[in-house]
Amino acid sequence: MATENKIAVVTGGSRGLGKNMALRLAASGIDVILTYRSKQEEAEAVVREIEQTGRKAAALQLDTSLVSTFDAFLETVSSLLNEKWGRSTIDFLVNNAGIDAASPFAQTTEEDFDNLFNIHLKGVYFLTQKALPLLADNGGIVNVSTGLTRFTTPGYAAYATMKGAIEVFTKYLAKELGARGIRANLVAPGIIETDFTKAAREAHPGLEAYISSQTALGRFGQPDDIGGVVAFLCSPDARWVNAQRIEASGGMFL
Ligand code: NDP
Repeated sequence: MATENKIAVVTGGSRGLGKNMALRLAASGIDVILTYRSKQEEAEAVVREIEQTGRKAAALQLDTSLVSTFDAFLETVSSLLNEKWGRSTIDFLVNNAGIDAASPFAQTTEEDFDNLFNIHLKGVYFLTQKALPLLADNGGIVNVSTGLTRFTTPGYAAYATMKGAIEVFTKYLAKELGARGIRANLVAPGIIETDFTKAAREAHPGLEAYISSQTALGRFGQPDDIGGVVAFLCSPDARWVNAQRIEASGGMFL
């Protein structure tokens, strides 16, 4: 299972963690199809950065909350694979796209809940299901959870509930797809400095110092703390790693 000639699809690869995952996968020798929801220019800049390293890459638009669009999206992926790679399959699917939406339990509206559900659970479930015919045997799936499934921070009831469901889902994927040699794992980042956490960092100026004080390694997480973990999970060295939750938080709230 060499990384050469492998292809990964990374959702939400235009910014933040997904961008870092795309760059680190490319650095490990894997070509990347990344998706964006609205930030096409950022996504194309990531494609150019990858191409400068000699790997192939492409960016496609996808709203992962809209299951009705997935068939058309996957047809576009198929055509792209055929035209650009002369292949009909991908090797890895990285379900990273997500939104930050405060959801304190007592105030969560049905709309807030549905929005988080559609992006963080339903979309991941059905994109993975519909992508199965495109996913090569002996490939892999990496889902993205959060440290908030192990520890609790008030305000994230609905968000963390969806991520907890993704952790169960990942185990079932590993069990049901193992016969095809497909591994499924998940990365659970601690709080990381991306656009996702910008509002919280701005609203609470002491947040960074507080989190650093509650983190064994004594600092706030950066996107580059995460992408390499995903690249490892998509590497031959992770061939026996399956159904695992790998928390990358520097040891938050131990
Ligand atoms: P960012 O806000 O920095 O980036 C979000 C990415 O997801 C962008 O590429 C965005 O596309 C895309 N996206 C957002 N909504 C949709 C949608 N409906 N359909 C498709 N794509 C969408 O977030 P992060 O990089 O920080 O977060 C990435 C993942 O990591 C998420 O699943 C998040 O829950 C998880 N996570 C983040 C942590 C953190 O502290 N940052 C901690 C733990 C988990 P576009 O650029 O086009 O808007």
